[in-house]
Amino acid sequence: MTRTTIELRIKRQDTPTAKPRWEEFSLPYRPNMNVISCLMEIRKRPVTKQGARTSPIAWDAACLEEVCGSCTMLVNGRPCQACSQLVDRLDPGPITLAPLTKFPVVRDLQVDRSPMFDALQKVKAWIPIDGTYDLGFGPKMAEAEREVAYAFSRCMTCGCCMEACPQYNDHSDFIGPAPLAQVRLFNTHPTGKMNASERLDTIMGRGGIGDCGNAQNCIEVCPKDIPLTEAFGELGRQTTVLWLKRLFGR
Ligand code: SF4
Repeated sequence: MTRTTIELRIKRQDTPTAKPRWEEFSLPYRPNMNVISCLMEIRKRPVTKQGARTSPIAWDAACLEEVCGSCTMLVNGRPCQACSQLVDRLDPGPITLAPLTKFPVVRDLQVDRSPMFDALQKVKAWIPIDGTYDLGFGPKMAEAEREVAYAFSRCMTCGCCMEACPQYNDHSDFIGPAPLAQVRLFNTHPTGKMNASERLDTIMGRGGIGDCGNAQNCIEVCPKDIPLTEAFGELGRQTTVLWLKRLFGR
């Protein structure tokens, strides 16, 4: 049967504390639309399927090419980037859009992902440099190490892995998969290694690597195919080695 309309069910929430509600929309079908272009169509004329005027839907977006991660939301219940969800590839039934559930809602489909950025700060996910003079080229990395680092450097802090992780929730201190993977990245870097034990100290504590339940949902939803479970295994090894070294006073 030829599709003539695109049906959407969208979870709306006017403020961070307002009660959420669902609204339905029906748009004329055009080929090659993605979820963002549907939202833009609704914004042009914010009227529900039932004919009631409503407010334009709020959502975040920036790059529109699955690089920034800001348009991450639940599309038909799965965390993903709205920009790369092509309507023609989704089930023909109503497309359900909802905000991520693991981060506070700001409005409609916008969430505040700052807990993830706070966790990145906590684990020192950066290379400290002085910045007052030219340090020249950094140390060379072996090709095998560079390949590992590249895989982890593709993280766009979209939050899909945090959403899918059963251990990352309101009643746990677990910092989540993405910040842990960045510890793996920065502990691989020749200059970043200088702060490796500080990062490991952080993830050896409460909310760290020991809180990972190995559900492996994170790796299923990561749009960048980041080898998250490999990171957790390697971080488990690094923390054990550090612990043993301290135990034997080395
Ligand atoms: Fe997104 Fe993957 Fe990074 Fe998690 S690890 S924040 S799913 S890109």
